Amino acid sequence: MPERMDIATRQAIALSVVIPCYNELDGMGELHRRVTAACDSHVGTSYEIVLVIDGATDGTREAIIELARHDPRVIAVDLSRNYGHQVALSAGLEFSRGQRVLILDADLQDPPELLGPMMTRMDEGFDVVYGQRLKREGESLFKRSSATLFYRLLRRMVDMDIAADTGDFRLMSRRAVDHLNAMPERYRFIRGMVTWIGLKQTAFHYHRQARFAGTTHYPLRKMILLAMDAMTSFSIVPLRFASHLGMIFGAIGLLALGYTIVSWIEGNVIPGWTSLAAIVLILGSVQLLVLGIFGEYLGRMYMETKRRPLYIVNEIVCCDPAVEGADSHVHRLKAMFTGASRA
Ligand code: UDP
Ligand code: MG
Repeated sequence: MPERMDIATRQAIALSVVIPCYNELDGMGELHRRVTAACDSHVGTSYEIVLVIDGATDGTREAIIELARHDPRVIAVDLSRNYGHQVALSAGLEFSRGQRVLILDADLQDPPELLGPMMTRMDEGFDVVYGQRLKREGESLFKRSSATLFYRLLRRMVDMDIAADTGDFRLMSRRAVDHLNAMPERYRFIRGMVTWIGLKQTAFHYHRQARFAGTTHYPLRKMILLAMDAMTSFSIVPLRFASHLGMIFGAIGLLALGYTIVSWIEGNVIPGWTSLAAIVLILGSVQLLVLGIFGEYLGRMYMETKRRPLYIVNEIVCCDPAVEGADSHVHRLKAMFTGASRA
């Protein structure tokens, strides 16, 4: 990861809104309009909107760059390819410079208008105000029930109190974002990492809306991967589960051994094929399961040891001269992330 920026060099502004965007073309105009309106009325002029383009393929990239060329408050960070939601969000957080940072989804499921009440809550002295969903509109029963199950399971496994029904929609203080940016791990489950930071956090209840346009980019496969990252990043309970299984089946094995010896002494050793086959099958599958759990951790350790950068930036577009100029925030970031200064 490039050397992190010295906080003192950030030009202080009140708020950064960080939005990872994949294929969100249809909602882009509306997103820009509503976020701008919310910021205008709650923070005045001192804000920026960091739109991270996560390898979009539907024209979202061009639309965002167009916005950044005309609106000096928009900074477009174009990643070199699709890195996934959590990495795109990490990139946006690293690029943000506001004293407070609002994380938003591009699909307007989390209303930008809640900025006001969230700011008020933060004024009470909180470092993190995280959105907690009361109701999910426009999401399938399957998505809702799998999410519920996931959070319940995660809370049982992890030593921390990761709040249920939260997404990444949250308002964070500069110091909380700096702590988050300092965490180098590749497998990022950001809402868990934020919980890990501690400090003063509070829930903000809201109704999650249906997507404004388009469809979810989190199909079952990606949800399972995120769930696995969450579990392995914050818990070694699955590894312990492996050794517990080993112990249980070891004990059963010993009993079975006793039984076979007794049967041999009694002279009736021919029957028993069924039990033998059952034992072999059970042990075989348990061993594979345990190996699989080991593999999940080992694979992640392997990937971490490579110490590759988390993402590569293709280009950064912003038309605000104060932001763009030499010695400025974006200028330094450009040099750092797009390799301009690395001869
Ligand atoms: N997203 C992204 N990269 C991806 C997938 C999604 O940046 O590979 C963004 C997406 O544009 C949206 C946010 O992550 O702003 C959440 O995605 P989505 O709305 O599809 O997830 P859901 O709300 O259905 O869980
Ligand atoms: Mg969404």
